[in-house]
Amino acid sequence: MTDTPPSDTPPFAGPAADAPATDAPGVLHPETRAIRTGRRGDGASLAPVLWPTSTFVTPTVADARRAATSVGADTFYTRYGNPTVAGFEEAIADLEGAEAARAFASGMGAISAVVLGLCSSGDHIVAQRQLYAATQLLFQAVCPRFGIDVTFVDGTEPGAFAAAVRPGKTTLVFAETPANPKLDLVDLDELGAIAGPITVVDATFGTPILQQPLRHGVDLVLHSATKGIAGHNDATLGVVAGSQELIHWLWGFAVLQGASASPFDALNAVRGIRTLPVRIERQSASALAIATALEARPDVVDLRYPGLPSHPQHELARRQMRTGGSLVTFDVAGGYDAGVRFVESVRVAQLATSLGGPETLVTHPASTTHVNLLPDELAANGIGPGTIRLSVGLEHVDDLLTDLGGALDEATAAPGPS
Ligand SMILES: *Cc1c(COP(=O)(O)O)cnc(C)c1O
Repeated sequence: MTDTPPSDTPPFAGPAADAPATDAPGVLHPETRAIRTGRRGDGASLAPVLWPTSTFVTPTVADARRAATSVGADTFYTRYGNPTVAGFEEAIADLEGAEAARAFASGMGAISAVVLGLCSSGDHIVAQRQLYAATQLLFQAVCPRFGIDVTFVDGTEPGAFAAAVRPGKTTLVFAETPANPKLDLVDLDELGAIAGPITVVDATFGTPILQQPLRHGVDLVLHSATKGIAGHNDATLGVVAGSQELIHWLWGFAVLQGASASPFDALNAVRGIRTLPVRIERQSASALAIATALEARPDVVDLRYPGLPSHPQHELARRQMRTGGSLVTFDVAGGYDAGVRFVESVRVAQLATSLGGPETLVTHPASTTHVNLLPDELAANGIGPGTIRLSVGLEHVDDLLTDLGGALDEATAAPGPS
């Protein structure tokens, strides 16, 4: 087993040359900001303070009135805001270079607030075809019920989003990059240049460490912080970041929607953010080594990793991402049965639906996350019967290489179904 990638596929050197200078005088690096951010100076506690309270005592009616009528109040009632949750929101705004952020009870809480909070009956949305399955269902099944028309485009096709915009009618352009589950990329500069509708990126797979969509002119960035940001599989959380004006508007909807973040989960997420840069660095290095090793096997086909030159959008990845990230997607030769045998044969990696945590996880979309899609919808998402999504964790890379190689041997050596 090799433990270093070949020298012709170096890990990314760091932020692209034209990235905004975080090392400009006086601007701390993201690694440093991740350590310092989200600490609300509450007395002598170095660690952020947990406020589990659902409500707050107001000394006077004037105080209560002020709290009840101010946008983003965080000491009135926890559905409106909460100091622990506000610490998490400040941390994300800091790392994304945003004016403000709003946390939600889950990634889908954030996504449904953006879609239903910003769009009305008669509006038009341009959405990417390659999306997280629940987001896709929201666009396909819920939006039509509210009279919101959605056009799906191939997010990898240059100019596709802009070409589908109907001037005066399109209110939202929704993208995901890197996208589920084949790690397709969307050109953030192109998306940011679209004038008129509000542009939004689900950047869950990238985290604010790998890419910062707002710096490319995109209006809103959102995350399932359940994944890499909280990073330990012990929080269910979402977040949206952008201008003060847009976040305030979303806040007004969020208070009625009720998908408010739990202070416990927000605390876990701020704790996770402290190690986010080092986790991403290690996971990316392991993912590159694993992708390189798996790609060389004859029983692995169509392997996708943005950090490898074989990825169809590798040059775009180099332009807008710091590394190739922690996810690798590939097809096990032998189809559905071989895919199932593979995910049931791993021993260090585990079969579970999530990503971005310390544990290496494998998913088999055709039998789980995308099981509700019709065959042509699966194909449109680039999902084959043997497609595997691998989220590389923090175990020793050699243990992972041995485990994944052994599981592939078992999956593809077994006799076929016929
Ligand atoms: C998990 C995920 C979501 C949904 O987030 P939840 O926290 O599970 O609601 C949305 N988008 C992407 C890309 C995801 O991976």
